[in-house]
Amino acid sequence: MAGLVSRRRPSGGRTALALVQALALVPLALPLGPLPALAASALSAWRLNREGQLELRTAPDLPVRAYYEAGRGGIGPRVWFDLPGAPLRTRTIPGSGQVRQIRVGQPTPDSTRLVVEFQPGTQLDPSALKLVGTARDRWRMDLTGLAPYGQQALGEGDIEAPAATPAWRQGPIGAPQPRPGGAIGPLSASGLPEVDRGRFKVVIDPGHGGPDPGAVGIANLRETDVVLDVGLQVAQLLQAKGVQVLMTRTSEVDVDLPPRAALANSSGADLFLSIHANALSMTRPDVNGIETFYFESPRARGLAQAVQDEVLAVSPGSPDRGARTARFYVIRRTVMPSALVELGFVTGQLDSPRLADPAHRRRLALAISRGLLNVLRQGP
Ligand SMILES: [Zn+2]
Repeated sequence: MAGLVSRRRPSGGRTALALVQALALVPLALPLGPLPALAASALSAWRLNREGQLELRTAPDLPVRAYYEAGRGGIGPRVWFDLPGAPLRTRTIPGSGQVRQIRVGQPTPDSTRLVVEFQPGTQLDPSALKLVGTARDRWRMDLTGLAPYGQQALGEGDIEAPAATPAWRQGPIGAPQPRPGGAIGPLSASGLPEVDRGRFKVVIDPGHGGPDPGAVGIANLRETDVVLDVGLQVAQLLQAKGVQVLMTRTSEVDVDLPPRAALANSSGADLFLSIHANALSMTRPDVNGIETFYFESPRARGLAQAVQDEVLAVSPGSPDRGARTARFYVIRRTVMPSALVELGFVTGQLDSPRLADPAHRRRLALAISRGLLNVLRQGP
């Protein structure tokens, strides 16, 4: 058994948590602090989506240990996660596609083990498995090598539940609970997926600009400012990975819609992403959420879903409005797979302060970049 351990860095905050061979890890290992005694399992929810992304929701600020064991004989490879606290009941959930089954076990009286067992012969690259903390109570692992779309989505519990806050901060049940600032640490640029350098071209289209500010929301937050900042950061992150980026605008200028699509179509780009923020009436601060649009093609749908999943992962508590079809000009008239992401509502009481926060916009840029790079890796 190759024991693989991940943990937070002592500085706190969010770091990409590489799974490291246990042997190699020993000299670098830092002592795990004493764990609070927990009556119940720290595992609140899990989901394995069709793209092979495994997400966990846990009690906040706890270590999660991840392990990998290669397949042998008639047994497929396994990935598992140990968390403090006993499960309410042990159980086995039948899998689908390359996932044979998922088990929730109790290896010791006060711990929970979530095991993902794959079909015999499934090829996973353990060096590519990374357990990434995306919030104080959220974790994600891309099961790289798992054929995409080979399985149904699997899961238990409410993975979309608002992020946990310490008990003394919780308001009445049902009351909106904006996250405390800074609770979500940065994903890291160095943790972004690698692609063949010099091979891909992507068009980034920050919506609106110049005399057209787009939506204007709470505290005069302007869509154009949000999406230009995020778009420029995405461009810089992709360029650092050797992706050629064309931007439809890089400053506060107004570009009409046909030139945006024409630029994309004449560029021979592999992907097109338009970046926007939503708005509703100022009297509806209760409406928040992330949505991504595409037009018709399955490849565009895959792109939209990838971006949607990544943006959601850094926007805990903001509702998933889905990857959906729409007839917006820039996605209808572009010839390559294209999508339009709405990063949240500038009029929403949860989304708006986040969109105004440069640290959150950095996370959005990292999330979008991750989604785009993963799509490029799989062949757009
Ligand atoms: Zn817009």
